[in-house]
Amino acid sequence: MLKWLGEEANQVIGEWGRETGREDLWHEPLLAVAAADDPLFSRLGSVVAPDHAMPRDLLAGARSVLVFFIPFTERLARENDGEREFAARSWAEAYVVTNRLIQTMSERLKTSIEERGFDAAITPATHNFDEERLVSGWSHKHIGFIAGLGTFGCHHWLITRAGCCGRLGSLVTSLPMAPTPRPGIEYCLLKAGGKCGACYRKCRYQALFPHRFDRQACYRQCLVNDAHYAELPLVDVCGKCGCMVPCSHGIPRTPEAGQPGER
Ligand code: SF4
Ligand code: SF4
Repeated sequence: MLKWLGEEANQVIGEWGRETGREDLWHEPLLAVAAADDPLFSRLGSVVAPDHAMPRDLLAGARSVLVFFIPFTERLARENDGEREFAARSWAEAYVVTNRLIQTMSERLKTSIEERGFDAAITPATHNFDEERLVSGWSHKHIGFIAGLGTFGCHHWLITRAGCCGRLGSLVTSLPMAPTPRPGIEYCLLKAGGKCGACYRKCRYQALFPHRFDRQACYRQCLVNDAHYAELPLVDVCGKCGCMVPCSHGIPRTPEAGQPGER
């Protein structure tokens, strides 16, 4: 990872916090890089959607894909968990403002790259998915996995070094960068053979069960929250299964399971 990209990302978060008066929403972002020709990209067609884009569909001369994760603060997770029926207002509002932050972050990183003589193409923060199939044409979380940013939890979120509570963005560039090594271990306690299942217990909406995820039921609940906060822009979010669980804000560790993810 090139140091100046990390510094640029930190600067954007700092400026946004000061300008919006919302310094209590985010922690420092994590960045990771995938090679545009990583063989795992060719598997996204079967794992995510047949029409999932490849890096070179977005930028003909793509050499790298840069993925960033903006962690949410513990307060947001606590408030979302504390609200019984709906997503917390603060969680819904954070979603809206973070979408704008992701757009700004992507544009700033793109400009920085272009100033050094390379090309970059940005991708939308969200709602780049097929509304019937609920699959994405550019899945930031799968690309985050390829870039070594983390591993998937049983709740289908990406668990990073800073946990799963937060948002992802990505851009494609002609700038050659060394790929970030993938973790090589499972961060999710259950997937690593330990004890947990906290995320299943958080879902009260018949969407997440051991060994089963009902994507349609999950999205129905997200639309219930959107209707509940009708005065806000689109907030099709829920997030209860990622809040106040062992992997919310870091690589999970429990006394029962010992070290996280060691196989
Ligand atoms: S809550 Fe536990 S089981 Fe669920 S994803 Fe996190 S570590 Fe895995
Ligand atoms: S986001 Fe909400 S509805 Fe979807 S699986 Fe998690 S807790 Fe269940």
